Amino acid sequence: MTAAPGAAERLRHLQAQLPPPARLLAVSKGQDAEAMRTLVGLGQRSFGESRLQEAALKQEALADLEPLDWHFIGHLQANKVRPVLQRFGTLHSMDSLALAQRTARIAAEEGLAPQVLLQVKLRDDPSKGGFSREGLLEAWPQLQGLAPLRITGLMTMAPLGLAADQRERLFRDCAALAMDLGLQELSMGMSGDWPEAARAGSTWVRIGSALFGSRT
Ligand SMILES: *Cc1c(COP(=O)(O)O)cnc(C)c1O
Repeated sequence: MTAAPGAAERLRHLQAQLPPPARLLAVSKGQDAEAMRTLVGLGQRSFGESRLQEAALKQEALADLEPLDWHFIGHLQANKVRPVLQRFGTLHSMDSLALAQRTARIAAEEGLAPQVLLQVKLRDDPSKGGFSREGLLEAWPQLQGLAPLRITGLMTMAPLGLAADQRERLFRDCAALAMDLGLQELSMGMSGDWPEAARAGSTWVRIGSALFGSRT
């Protein structure tokens, strides 16, 4: 399968609508390497993947291209930290102090300085992980000391069932928290809610199906 017809138009359309400083992270999970290659040909370089194994296969398949900008957006399991660090420059889903400490130790061993976004959960949502606001503020002094991690931002997801104005309020709360902590990057917004996230100051919208078409 190659990129569904229309991928080029969807990419141009999204790019035209995104207000700076929002950038497009193309979420390629469930898509094949050829669909990604099409987007690279159109200038897209940043890709988000949530499964290590699947991403590794596509990285091999695209190894002939100029190096791409790979972001890990899935739940990071403790036993996968090393291979994830070896394959991804940016991690969007750091969701606990213990995991961040482990990641810092392994990054130091590997001689890597990954960019890290802390996943926060600012509304009740049993289906998702992430720091609560209080939990993050409590862990913050220790998180700041975790060289060689470069903690640059926050990532969040809206629970299902929120209305658009409630989602926008949630994204604005996340932006305010990032500003309080002096963090620049905001990974917020997916296919169904990126306009609200972009209005709230998102710097990375993570878009899969609205770009590639539905996943297989
Ligand atoms: C799958 C996924 C996305 C993209 O979802 P779409 O609705 O297809 O845009 C974004 N962020 C995360 C964390 C995901 O797992």
